[in-house]
Formats: sequence, structure tokens, C-alpha cells
Amino acid sequence: MTAPRIIVADSDPAVQQTIAWVLREHGYDVRGVITCAAAVDAARDFVPDLLLMDAQLLDEGGAVALTALKGESRWHDLPVLVTSTRAPEEIVEQALANGATDVVRKPLRSGELLARIGANLRSRSALDMTRRQLLSTQEALAHAREEAQTGRTLMAIMREVSADLSSEEIYHVLVRRVARAIGLFRCSVVLARPGELSAIVPAAFDDPTLRNLPMDLEKYPEIRVALEAGRPVLIPDVMVHPLFAELRQRWAREGTVVPTRSVIALPFFVDRQQAGVFLLRRGVGETPLDDEDVSFADAVVKAAVASIQRAHLLETARADNVRLAALAQTDPLTQVLNRRALTDRLVSELDRARRYGHSVAVLMLDLDHFKMVNDTRGHLVGDGVLKDIAEILRSAVRSADFVARYGGEEFVIVLPETSLDGAVIFAERLRERIAATAFQGGVGVSLTLSVSIGVSLFPGPRITSVDDLLSSADTALYRAKADGRNRVRH
Ligand code: GH3
Ligand code: MG
Ligand code: MG
Repeated sequence: MTAPRIIVADSDPAVQQTIAWVLREHGYDVRGVITCAAAVDAARDFVPDLLLMDAQLLDEGGAVALTALKGESRWHDLPVLVTSTRAPEEIVEQALANGATDVVRKPLRSGELLARIGANLRSRSALDMTRRQLLSTQEALAHAREEAQTGRTLMAIMREVSADLSSEEIYHVLVRRVARAIGLFRCSVVLARPGELSAIVPAAFDDPTLRNLPMDLEKYPEIRVALEAGRPVLIPDVMVHPLFAELRQRWAREGTVVPTRSVIALPFFVDRQQAGVFLLRRGVGETPLDDEDVSFADAVVKAAVASIQRAHLLETARADNVRLAALAQTDPLTQVLNRRALTDRLVSELDRARRYGHSVAVLMLDLDHFKMVNDTRGHLVGDGVLKDIAEILRSAVRSADFVARYGGEEFVIVLPETSLDGAVIFAERLRERIAATAFQGGVGVSLTLSVSIGVSLFPGPRITSVDDLLSSADTALYRAKADGRNRVRH
């Protein structure tokens, strides 16, 4: 512990030096002065713990200087001991009014003086400690209040985010809530992986309509560093931070006016597919972002990552289901609907037709003498021809129509809201087109084929179900074959 510092002010140098000597002997650090003004000056650099001053100095206009000194909050509690040859009861009132804390009678007796100084210093330090305790209690209280507020905000954000949202919706909620909680100029999510220069912005607070905007990370060193280091990067001021040195030169060269003052780039990692940063920015003239903003945003983002992860799993599972469902309905060779999907779709198509009074036409196609193709060119060539036929059918139909592989080399085309005449004309065009097509018949060889087509229509006489409709088309197809193939019958 350093020695307590005392300023001794007495206009009589001999008295002043004697007192100083006694006090130094008792371990005090002493500065001696002979005027009140000098005492006030000395206070500024010596920073005393106590001022001992002769009452005469106060009479000589020093009172004003002392009152002014004690008016400063820093010196408010400085103990001032006034020494006087007059009886204490005569001067105590005036001395106290001038900022003194105690009066000691001259001639001084060193025992009494030391006791008074000790008492004054002790009560001063007790006061100091109480004040410090009070301050730290107030700080703790403010901190607790802030923490509770942060906790509440966090809970509210998490409640909103934990609902069954997609990851994109979660990003939108987060940028809005974090921006409002911290009071931000800008807040956005940037999706990118360490070492990459191209990024996607799925959500930004200042543009709620923004969706998946591509972004070049060349001008964002804070994002690159945050991703690569895997920890938050705080830039209180882009105009002085070394990370922005190169960019500042560029801004100066290009005359760019930068509206951003301070930045936080907060990395997050959802899984191997998804990583990115939360980018928080405040503008020029606003309070710079600080460590507390970093820890608040970090807490929000950490808590949110679990929700984002869950949303991701759900999205992947949903996408898998869609893929699986599509796979279950598709014929692997030709990529058109398989027979089961055809019957399912036909059932709902007939329901609609019944409800709205539409008709539904069905074409059943069978390749003529297809066995020959396999026998003469091989099975692989046969497969290739089936694929080509499916492609021709698919490209010929409207979006409401659908094509299915009904069996080996048999296809069905469904034409909703089409008349029998319309369907026959369409079938005829298809037949001609296939007959005119040169198919791959092996290396350097082409081959030609024909199809027979049976057409039927719902509703029709004795046609009230999917089975009726298909077997009627099959019967018509059989007739087309019997009549010599390469023709359309209904
Ligand atoms: P038509 O219909 O004119 O009476 O004669 P066809 O030779 O086409 O008659 P059929 O129905 O008897 O023969 C169908 C042939 O289609 C039998 C089989 O070799 C062939 N086929 C069926 N499915 C496939 C397939 O997935 N790939 C190949 N390459 N051939 C298939
Ligand atoms: Mg056939
Ligand atoms: Mg057949």
C-alpha cells in the first residue's frame, strides 16, 4: 500500500516544515505549500488524501479557491483539516462553511494532530468503500436487468424461430429480430463456405422481399475472416481497422462514400451443406457495435442454429419424399408414368370429368412387329427405340395430357377434355409421325416402325369406369391390328 498523501499549507514556512517533518516521520507522503492557491494547484498533480491548512490562508481569500476545489466531484470527499490559533468554537462554523471537515487548535501537539489525521483518513476511506460498493451493486443490478432483458428477447426470438418454419423463413425472422433488438442499420444472412468467394444472401432486414441474392465476397474481408477463423469478427470502425486497409485505398481511388461505420460478422455452421455469417452493420454517425452486441447476436445465432438444423433435416426429408414419390410413379426405361400411376391418375381424372361434365379420351398404342426389332437388332436397340417413342409421345402432348407405359411396347396417352374426333385426329398425326421417323437401328443403321392405335372416350355407352375405358381402347387397338396394323381405330 502506498503512503497516504497530505498537503500541508501554512504561511509560516517554519511551522509548515515542522509539521511536514513530523508527518513524514509517521509515514506520510507530504507536499508543503505556503498559500491556499498553491495548495489547490498542488492538489491537481499530487492528488492528496488529506489537506491540512492554516485558517489564516482561508481569511486571505483562499476560502473561494477551496470551495471551488471541493465543488468538483473528484474532491468532494477530500478531508480538509483547518489549524488555527483561535478557539475552535470561534472559527468552526466558518471553516466548515468553506469546506473544512475538522478544526485543530494551534499550537499543535503532534499526538492530537496525528490522531485527527488518522480519524479523517479512516472515515474518508470508509466513505470511499461504501461508495464503491454502492456503485458495484448498482452495476450488478443494471447488468442483471440487462441480462434478463436479453434472456427475454432471446426466448421470444426462439419461440418464433422454433415454430415449424423453413430455414429461409427462420433467416427472415432472425435478421428482423436481431436488427430490432440491437438497433441496427443493416442485418443480413450470408450463406458461404470457408475459402469461397461467392455467396448467397437469403434474407436481409433492410429488404424483406429479398430472396437468394448472389454476392461477391471480394469486398467483404470481415466475412471471409469470420468463416475461415470460425469466430466472430468485430470491426468497430471500418475507417481505421487494419482489415479494411486495402478496401479504404480502393474507396479513396474510386471516390466511394461508405455508409457503414461498424460491422460484426458472426459465423455459423449448420451442417456440411450450410454455413454462413450473420452480418450486422451500423451506419456512420451511429454508436459503434461492441463486444456486448457480439455476445447477444452470438447467443441468438447459436440458439437458432439448432432450429435451422431441424428445418434443414425436414426440408431434405421432404425433398427425398418428393423424389421417392416421383420415382415410384415413373417407368425407369422411358421416364413416362408407369401403369400403376396411370390408373391412379385416370381415377382422379374421371372424377373430375364426372364433376364438371368433361370428357376424357384415351389412346392405346402398340408397336407393330416389335418382336422383330429385338430379334434382328438385339434387345438394346429395342430399348433405345422404346425410349425414342416415349420421347415422341411426350413432346406431342399438351401439359394437361399424360403419357404412360402400359406394358412392354404398349403406351397409353390420356387426353382430358378432348372429344372422340379430336382424339382420333391426334392419334392419326402421331401414327404418321412415328411411321416417318428413322430410329437408331444400331451403328450406322436406321430403321422404321409403325404403330397401331386404339381410341376410346369417357363417358360413352358402357364406359363408366377406368377399366371400361382401358378395355375399350384395347379392343379398338386389337381391331387396328386385325385390320392390318399401322392404323387408328375407335
Ligand atoms: P404386334 O404387336 O404387331 O402383334 O407384334 P409384336 O412383335 O409387337 O407383338 P408382341 O406383343 O408379341 O411382342 C412384343 C415384344 O416387345 C416382345 C418383346 O420382345 C418386346 N418387348 C417388350 N418389352 C420390352 C422391353 O422392355 N425392351 C425390349 N427391347 N423389348 C421389349
Ligand atoms: Mg406389338
Ligand atoms: Mg404388345
